[in-house]
Amino acid sequence: MIKIKVSEIFTSFQGEGPYVGTPATFLRLYGCNLNCEWCDTDISTYEMLSVDDVAEIILTQMEFNNIKTLIITGGEPTLQMEEIKRLIKELPEDIKIQMETNGSLFEYVPEIEYVISPKEDKEKVFENYYNYENTFFKFVITSQEDIDEVISLKEKYNYDKAIWLQGEFSQDAEMADLIRENFPRLENVKLSVQTHKYLNQR
Ligand code: SF4
Repeated sequence: MIKIKVSEIFTSFQGEGPYVGTPATFLRLYGCNLNCEWCDTDISTYEMLSVDDVAEIILTQMEFNNIKTLIITGGEPTLQMEEIKRLIKELPEDIKIQMETNGSLFEYVPEIEYVISPKEDKEKVFENYYNYENTFFKFVITSQEDIDEVISLKEKYNYDKAIWLQGEFSQDAEMADLIRENFPRLENVKLSVQTHKYLNQR
């Protein structure tokens, strides 16, 4: 029996990024391969659950709440990609499956829509994913250098899809000012705010 390390399963709004405001059931998986200094995710505990049990909990929450979107997040969910592929087989085809990933362990499954937030080796991550239709990029901004890097990636890869820029939460107002000051150099970017934190939602 295949088991998954699950931190939590809950239903809420998507708080940030391209799908902000969308009601969704979240599957938060345990563990991450990176150690970002401003990481705000509590991924210290987990339960080992069978794929069948995880599918049942998810579907019960989705049915009760009339939800059609599952967001697989972490931690870094791609650490358990084989288990996720098994889980997808257990879910109805009309469920929209999204994944939030740092993109460092390149994994691509066509049934999944990816929201990629590169944290390390950003160009490598960008290069791996930018050509796929169902991928979106959200960059955490902590400095002018982070904005410069996004501009140079957009230019180098001739990327004209929208990119979401999200100020690191402890300085998000300051980073919004910085992004605004960069408007003359920016093309097709959108501000992402972690609304769930301001609204005290999960
Ligand atoms: S990649 Fe995400 S989950 Fe992992 S340490 Fe960085 S912020 Fe935290």
